[in-house]
Amino acid sequence: MFEKEKEKVLTTALRLKEYRLIALSGGNVSLRIDDGHILVTPSGMDYSEMDASDICIVDIDGNVVEGTRRISVDTEALLYIYKNMPEVNAIIHTHQVYATAVGAVEDKLRSVVTTLPNATLGDVNVAPFSSAASLEMGINSVKYLDGKRAVILKNHGVVTVGSTIKEALYAAVYLEDAAKTYILAKAIGNPVLLDQAQVDQAVEVFTHYGQDKI
Ligand SMILES: [Zn+2]
Repeated sequence: MFEKEKEKVLTTALRLKEYRLIALSGGNVSLRIDDGHILVTPSGMDYSEMDASDICIVDIDGNVVEGTRRISVDTEALLYIYKNMPEVNAIIHTHQVYATAVGAVEDKLRSVVTTLPNATLGDVNVAPFSSAASLEMGINSVKYLDGKRAVILKNHGVVTVGSTIKEALYAAVYLEDAAKTYILAKAIGNPVLLDQAQVDQAVEVFTHYGQDKI
């Protein structure tokens, strides 16, 4: 079932690896197929050694519908997000270094470059610590996403969301780039941040970006 969608989940995981946002078996990628089914990457498998048949299908209560692998340890948290955010169809969880570093110091990553609000819809909040395999990870994500497509989990990593898997991927990649830019700017001075009108314009312009779906 859902072979094309499983390929999409795997391709996205490999792109996260290409951008150095995940290492070995860390993090996870999941995709809501319909009201009853969610695809989720398996627990503790190196993404480079995975093929589409390793992607698991679970129902909204976490019962495995298809797949022989053990599901991601974060599945309970992911399902909490899917249940409470019906507009979300894809979730990416990483331990990406630069965004997590900002989260260790700041209460949010402020927009220092337009690509951040392009992809995340604005400044990105830092949620209080929650560990792997905890329901709190899902509860804190829902609480601190605050209408954006990304949230930093203090001393842990990042959760990005989207109505499509591409939106969640873009949010993760551009969040990391913005975190790098912010850290570099802080290293040489006091960064000038975008004001709200500039953030709003960056969000608006991205709604016209790219190709129409055909
Ligand atoms: Zn994690």
